[in-house]
Amino acid sequence: MIINNTTIAPGENAILRLNVGRLPSDTRIYLNVHVYRSSVPGPVAAVLAGVHGDEVNSVEIVRRTIACHMFGNLLMGTVVVIPVLNVYGFNNFSRDVPDGKDVNRSFPGSAKGSLAARVAHIFTKNILPVIDFGVDFHTGGSSNYNYPQIRYSKGREQSRELAEAFGAPFTVANRPIPKSLRKTCLEAGKPMLVFEGGENLRFDGFAIEKGLAGIRRLLFSKGMLPEAPPGAPTIHIEKTTWQRAARPGMFRWWKQSGQAVQKGEPLGVINDPFGQDEFPVLASRNGFIIGHNNSPVVRPGDALFHLGY
Ligand SMILES: [Zn+2]
Repeated sequence: MIINNTTIAPGENAILRLNVGRLPSDTRIYLNVHVYRSSVPGPVAAVLAGVHGDEVNSVEIVRRTIACHMFGNLLMGTVVVIPVLNVYGFNNFSRDVPDGKDVNRSFPGSAKGSLAARVAHIFTKNILPVIDFGVDFHTGGSSNYNYPQIRYSKGREQSRELAEAFGAPFTVANRPIPKSLRKTCLEAGKPMLVFEGGENLRFDGFAIEKGLAGIRRLLFSKGMLPEAPPGAPTIHIEKTTWQRAARPGMFRWWKQSGQAVQKGEPLGVINDPFGQDEFPVLASRNGFIIGHNNSPVVRPGDALFHLGY
């Protein structure tokens, strides 16, 4: 295997530092890539996080795979690990790169494009050609908590099989976002699962645990790891909808992510701040809450609950 002119032989492990660019201060920025190779040929998996720099819960999941030597004794194949793809965003506690662009809307990228396109290009040029499949770890956004879930490309049997093997609490079939990493991988014939769990700039032990167990199960299913924790049955989600705030105010929820809800059931309330009025938020349909808003103050139209069904 050759990544960025470095050869990694079967049975070898390596840590590569790919040059991403420079800061205005002329400080060089590097992308750290850890490669674990069994001496036995087999599939090549990518495990990556930090495409959005503020999604540190996903970075922590991938960091722990390295710290606990999860891939130190692979039975076969290769694992390519990138804990932080968007190094710029990670340093700035930001989802995006410093010019405000989203790396996950900039794929496949280009060597001479915007900063986000350049970061995307490094993955597309160096990593995508050598992998067969992978998992891209994410979290919800600001104040938005995602219950641990795998998103896979609807109608793609290979993606569905990988999602089943991962065994997250929810398995969501949807279409990849245009210009996303997942879409670029799909077009190259390489299924890329997206894991979502927790919210940005927070650790969430439950989501971390589900993410780590899922990687083990996925690689076990491919014959790459000798064992994996047993999985609970996953709930398949075919469609999702956002339930939004009909009015502004202070938001409190009774029902939270992971729970089943019935149409018309009270999920929470929105109050004015003066103790005068209270407006219930009722479930718009039967389903499961796969994400919810932790913000105590909401504006009209703000997403409150992500319902899957
Ligand atoms: Zn993300």
